[in-house]
Amino acid sequence: MELDEVAGGLAAPVTIRRRRKIQTRKTLILFVGPAVVVGWFAWHRFYAVPMWRSFDGARAFEDLQNVVHFGPRPPGSPALEKTRQYISVEMEVDGLEVWHDNFTAVTPAGDIPMTNVIGIVPGESPSVVVVAGHYDTARLEGMPFVGANDGGSSTALLLELGRVLAQRKNRLTYWLVYFDGEEAFRQWSPTDSLYGSRHMAEQLAADGRLKKIRALILVDMVGDRHLDILRESNSTPWLQALVFGSARQLGYANSFSGGTYPVEDDHVPFLKRGVAAVDIIDLTPFHTYHHTEADAIDKCSPQSLQLVGRVVLATIDKLDRSGQ
Ligand SMILES: [Zn+2]
Repeated sequence: MELDEVAGGLAAPVTIRRRRKIQTRKTLILFVGPAVVVGWFAWHRFYAVPMWRSFDGARAFEDLQNVVHFGPRPPGSPALEKTRQYISVEMEVDGLEVWHDNFTAVTPAGDIPMTNVIGIVPGESPSVVVVAGHYDTARLEGMPFVGANDGGSSTALLLELGRVLAQRKNRLTYWLVYFDGEEAFRQWSPTDSLYGSRHMAEQLAADGRLKKIRALILVDMVGDRHLDILRESNSTPWLQALVFGSARQLGYANSFSGGTYPVEDDHVPFLKRGVAAVDIIDLTPFHTYHHTEADAIDKCSPQSLQLVGRVVLATIDKLDRSGQ
């Protein structure tokens, strides 16, 4: 009897303790469990296997070396034709559909044949995000200007971007656009500059395809070793906020602090037609080697190409997840 009482007296607290333990476990499962699962998915989605990590700056830098090797690439030159072939073959190998947009530009140097090159990565939706840059170099008399940063860096970045995008299933459709004739022949003016982008925006508006474009992300002079991207003030605010937000999330805010300036660039003909567009550009070379033969491969780095490429990819990932 006594023993039973003792046993009973001991048994009760043990049961309560067990119940409490079970309740605590239930609470953990109910509240902490989902938080852990959601957190894990968010972490996994953005950091563990994020698309932006696939952008390889070293591979992009190899492309840059190859492009620079062709020599000065003004519109209509054999070197630009070689560059065009290189871009087209690389993209075809990666599985992209390649389209050449040929036209004749009326320039102060006469009629010049030009070609925008477009690589298409089809997605589930017909909505399009354009990532663009120019691949020509300024025609500077008597100067072997290879434009490693100015014209080369955008070309290399787009090539590596194509490789990454072709490897994954995308909701949106992507066009990688290499503009011809960004540079002026004599003096920069509304009629002597942006030949390729003006032509393409006009063409797409005429055939109705412009309406499919959700956003245009332009990259220009993004290879400088001492990268400092500015807030280009003609750009569409929500799209620019997405780009700069991505830069911050990736820990690259220091390379995106180049002040706020307006820049006339290949995004302008699209902005004028109501397309949301952002220009990712670094103007610091204007104070040093811009449009001189010093704009060679030594001014650029794989790290800068990788940094901008990854910011573009993180931005694309956000657009793709919210896209229809
Ligand atoms: Zn230039």
